[in-house]
Amino acid sequence: MTDGGNVKATDPGEALRSAGVVYADYQSAKPVDPRVVEAMLPYFTEKFGNAASLHGVGDVATQALEEARARVAAFFGADPREIVFTSGATEASNLAVAGYALRNRRKGDHVIISEAEHISVLTLGKYLEKQGFRVTRAPIDLYGRVNPKKLRARITDETILVSLQWASNEIGTVQPVAEIAEMLDGTGIALHSDAVAAEGLLPIDTSAVPVSLLSLSSNDLYGPRGIGALYVRKGVQVAPQLLGGGQERGLRSGSEDLAGIVGFAAAADIMAAEMPAEVERIRAIRDRLVERVLSEIPDVHLNGHPEQRLPNNAHFRFEAVEGEAMVLSLRDAGIAASTGSACSSKTLEPSHTLISCGLLHEEAHGSLEFTFGRWSRMEDVDRIMEALPGVIRRLRSLSPLYKTSAPAEP
Ligand code: PMP
Repeated sequence: MTDGGNVKATDPGEALRSAGVVYADYQSAKPVDPRVVEAMLPYFTEKFGNAASLHGVGDVATQALEEARARVAAFFGADPREIVFTSGATEASNLAVAGYALRNRRKGDHVIISEAEHISVLTLGKYLEKQGFRVTRAPIDLYGRVNPKKLRARITDETILVSLQWASNEIGTVQPVAEIAEMLDGTGIALHSDAVAAEGLLPIDTSAVPVSLLSLSSNDLYGPRGIGALYVRKGVQVAPQLLGGGQERGLRSGSEDLAGIVGFAAAADIMAAEMPAEVERIRAIRDRLVERVLSEIPDVHLNGHPEQRLPNNAHFRFEAVEGEAMVLSLRDAGIAASTGSACSSKTLEPSHTLISCGLLHEEAHGSLEFTFGRWSRMEDVDRIMEALPGVIRRLRSLSPLYKTSAPAEP
């Protein structure tokens, strides 16, 4: 929107309200905070330089790039030299998992990847197998958690890398990353964690948790999409996966997306200032939804861990109802929710995470995920609960699988 020649970013909350939409799918995509957009704008026009150039316009870009790197590093308790900017978390995980395994192959050929990982990391497991590595999938329990003792039992002399997400983008379960990082510290086995789902919701401090590699994304802090970073602890060696001009200390060639990186840093600054209050506000909205769904709708279960879960995540399983049918019916009522992972929503396969938790296919198919964020309001829960019980009743009335517990007519 323009205002007398000045570009003004629209407030996402107002935009959703005026469109009559309740957005409860923050895990799939977050709006960019208008304050972040403001911070980025000069880097498209007057500060457009390339950090690789030797002239003054390039110097402005170099300075902005390094300042942004320092601010992103500070948010994660890191040294600026430990941050490699990438195009997002998928690329960061490629650099971490493939880059670490290929670089450190002479130390061993065994990698452990948890069954709860995002599709980007799971696919890297298959890639490494094709490259001749042995890949063990660490199982998860009913609540989606890896048991550190069971993980330890899978370590061999050949193990070089463990990949365990910080928290699930799907069921919200938080993994014992700190405990496993302590367990592996000093063993020579690297720990990679995909921290995307936890960013901005849980403190992620590399100065307190001895993790080796962390995949990060800007959008999860309300920065732009298409920009992310890999945290690489000092001394940890990875082989670059993009070759070219040698940017990012040779680890990620290609001109840096300066506006995106400045946006990532602005988002991190805002999050650092607002996170404690914001998380409590979001948690209260989520708690209210969970309480109302479990008490007002029959035959529904909460997936994921009851306590060790992200504060914005409510993930339910409704008996005898299809997730897609629920999402589409809610869509008609102006509510944006999800069946689970947006990244694999175009497949008809049930969620791999829920199957690994021990759910049957038909149970996993009945899942519905709500995730709240910066522009969510308590009234959103009322809107959801005006629609959801009726949606479930209608879909169950059409479902041959649903048996009511009402006594049979005499
Ligand atoms: N990991 C997790 C947990 C995710 O939710 C996502 C998708 N937002 C990714 C990785 C991939 O991120 P990107 O789209 O930035 O590559």
